[in-house]
Amino acid sequence: MLPDRGRKGRESRIFGRTTPFGGRGSRVPGRGGPLARLSRRGRLIGTRTAWTTVCDGEFFCPGCGGDRNYQRRTGRRRFVFLGVPLLSRGETGPVVECAACQDHFGLEALDHPTTVRLSTMLRDAVHTVVLAVLTTGGSAARTALDAAVTTLRGAGFDDCTEERLAALIDALAADTGRLNDPECAPGLAIELHEALGPLAPHLAPAGREALLLQGARIALADGPYTPAERDVLATAGCALTIDPDDVARLLVAATRTPR
Ligand SMILES: [Zn+2]
Repeated sequence: MLPDRGRKGRESRIFGRTTPFGGRGSRVPGRGGPLARLSRRGRLIGTRTAWTTVCDGEFFCPGCGGDRNYQRRTGRRRFVFLGVPLLSRGETGPVVECAACQDHFGLEALDHPTTVRLSTMLRDAVHTVVLAVLTTGGSAARTALDAAVTTLRGAGFDDCTEERLAALIDALAADTGRLNDPECAPGLAIELHEALGPLAPHLAPAGREALLLQGARIALADGPYTPAERDVLATAGCALTIDPDDVARLLVAATRTPR
């Protein structure tokens, strides 16, 4: 369980709210009396943590739900009596502190990409799937290019045109010689896994299936699946951690629900 926070990077855990020293919410019996003076100081009985910032950055805060700045911090806990630190209670943390809501989280909070990063990963994933499908069938047919341009623009590549996409495919073919070359399949599989693997854990099943279906519909735009297109889509499904049976089901479903 994460510690409560106090102000200015200090956390206080208050004990003895009903002790003669008083505490938060207790009433002070008389201004200036010895008991009152003790009461004003009595809030400081407990443990206090002094935090040190190790590094900072940006993360998606699970507390306030958005891209926020964070500070990664470690703390030293001390037992405090009447405001005086007496005993070390050891170190605590590290924790991730949100700059907006100031809640503390475990370091696993940094495993989740920010929404900006996630949208970039998604765009790159669509681009990779589209190119992978298009480059399996030799020179892409006009209808496949049309479908690909529509998909890429929908993913945020606003300046994508058929001419640019065709030029990119030709350049890839010239660079890697991978068009119609079964030997290039491992390289294509690596590209798909690199683009889709890190993204898959952060997408809901429907999001992962939608990515695969986008590729399937481009493959179907110029006719039934070719064996190479099936292989690429199966690889994409694997990279997206979709069960092979579900991949087969989705590929059939795409033939029945053309875009
Ligand atoms: Zn927050």
